[in-house]
Amino acid sequence: MKVAIIGLGVAGSGILKELINHQSTERITKIDIYEPNEKLGHGFPYQSDHKDVQMNSYAQDLSLHTSKQDDFLDWLQENYPERNFCASDFVSRSIFGQYLVDRLKPFLSDERINHFQTKAIDMMPLNREHNAAWNELDKPLQYVIQDEQDKWSDAYDAVFFAFGHAPYADHYQLSGHKNYIHDPYPIEKKLGQIDDTKRIGIIGSGLTGLDTMYFLLKNYKWVHPVTFYIRQHPFTTVKSKRYEGNIQLTISEKWLADQKKTYNGQIPLKVIKKQLFSDLKANSVNWIRLIDLYGKGSVFQVEKSLKENDPELARLQRYLGQLTPLLPELNMALNPLERKAFWEKEKKTFEHFRSQMPENRIQFILDKMEQGQARIIKGLDSITSNQDSFKIVTDKMEMYPADVLINAAGFEKKLVSAGNQDDLIKNLYKREIIIQDGIEDIQVSWPSCQVLSKRFGQMDRVYLLGNWIFQTQFGNNNAKLNNKQGQASAKHFMDSL
Ligand SMILES: Cc1cc2nc3c(=O)[nH]c(=O)nc-3n(C[C@H](O)[C@H](O)[C@H](O)COP(=O)(O)OP(=O)(O)OC[C@H]3O[C@@H](n4cnc5c(N)ncnc54)[C@H](O)[C@@H]3O)c2cc1C
Repeated sequence: MKVAIIGLGVAGSGILKELINHQSTERITKIDIYEPNEKLGHGFPYQSDHKDVQMNSYAQDLSLHTSKQDDFLDWLQENYPERNFCASDFVSRSIFGQYLVDRLKPFLSDERINHFQTKAIDMMPLNREHNAAWNELDKPLQYVIQDEQDKWSDAYDAVFFAFGHAPYADHYQLSGHKNYIHDPYPIEKKLGQIDDTKRIGIIGSGLTGLDTMYFLLKNYKWVHPVTFYIRQHPFTTVKSKRYEGNIQLTISEKWLADQKKTYNGQIPLKVIKKQLFSDLKANSVNWIRLIDLYGKGSVFQVEKSLKENDPELARLQRYLGQLTPLLPELNMALNPLERKAFWEKEKKTFEHFRSQMPENRIQFILDKMEQGQARIIKGLDSITSNQDSFKIVTDKMEMYPADVLINAAGFEKKLVSAGNQDDLIKNLYKREIIIQDGIEDIQVSWPSCQVLSKRFGQMDRVYLLGNWIFQTQFGNNNAKLNNKQGQASAKHFMDSL
């Protein structure tokens, strides 16, 4: 069996480890890895960058070893003894990247592995006669991959797509403007040489916006305030000090299995909600109160949360942290109508509390706002540009000039628009290998994550992972879940041999 892995970051590492560790590993004769980075394992978020680009999770929550909870802390102690990192530190993302690279190294000596340092840009299914397969009846049996140099590969029996997140969205069609930074990473390279007399705008104040603002404020003294331009409410919730007491979580894999048995495979939303609210009550968490106090993410609410260090919020965050590994199963246990209702009505608030800003970073930004080094302009409506600069207009028709605009406005997850920035997405879409899941994302089966194609049906040996399947593997904006799913999908393939 010849296997291709497209993208070797966090999910790709999980795939590779399982292919090598599985009891049937001798059935695999070749593993070709397509990954443009020289080093394997760190992926996009954990590439080498400035030390101020930090993880959003505590060091103690970052072990990728299934049975050694302190694996990352042990690695830190071994590799950075002088830094005395502790469990509740937010280490830099490059350091976590080094950990990922290090832990993958032993697997890379396997002689079946070839690393092609290039991107894949297309995949063609082949039929029994080794011609292009056109549809499900013309059963695709093998696959060939085209790389950036337009070279087609030999045939593979299985392909794992693990190419990470969608490209950044370009909501205001600014790409190509010389003073527009569409993708701010790596931050040191893209933002390390900016003229501090310029008027800088950041579009969006989510976690990418915070990374960007924090770096700019820590490393420059600005003549004009660096400005977040946003539509409505600026922030998510502040990550409280980790709650160390006991948390009641009655939802578990067993609970899910029992409920599925009771309700013929799909668990009613009201049953899940009842269980969640009963857990929250047992943990003395009043969800409605927390939404009232912190649900908007306004500067006032964030300041209040920083000042009061609310233990109830800390307990909720710990509960959500423990619940996260179960979110994909909970999501897929709902029937599609209830899932849609949850996604339309409640997901935003749920994610507002799950997505958390490290205290030190947001406090630093608020302090700088008070000193006039930063500000927030709400009601962003449109952006126009001339040769050198930009004009930002709000819904109250106020106008602001900017010399440099940095994009932090989220990902483009609509396949047609994303295809304008990513050849692989464009070509897989053109071949009707991938189809959109509702209004965004890519359709895959659950729990194996095989591609569901319009033309070929369920593609038994083509898997797709990462942020593009967020609507299926809900909650996977998280290193652990992506790594775990990589292992699970590879196991599914290996078990089928
Ligand atoms: C900016 C940012 C910060 C984040 N911070 C955190 C955090 O602090 N904590 C956390 O738990 N999660 C964080 N995440 C979530 C993150 O998505 C996951 O932790 C994890 O990295 C996703 O794993 P992945 O394998 O899907 O993607 P990645 O790890 O990014 O791997 C994808 C790989 O595919 C390669 N690739 C892309 N296109 C192609 C192609 N066409 N051909 C071949 N190779 C290709 C890329 O070079 C990359 O190496 C962050 C995400 C982002 C975008």
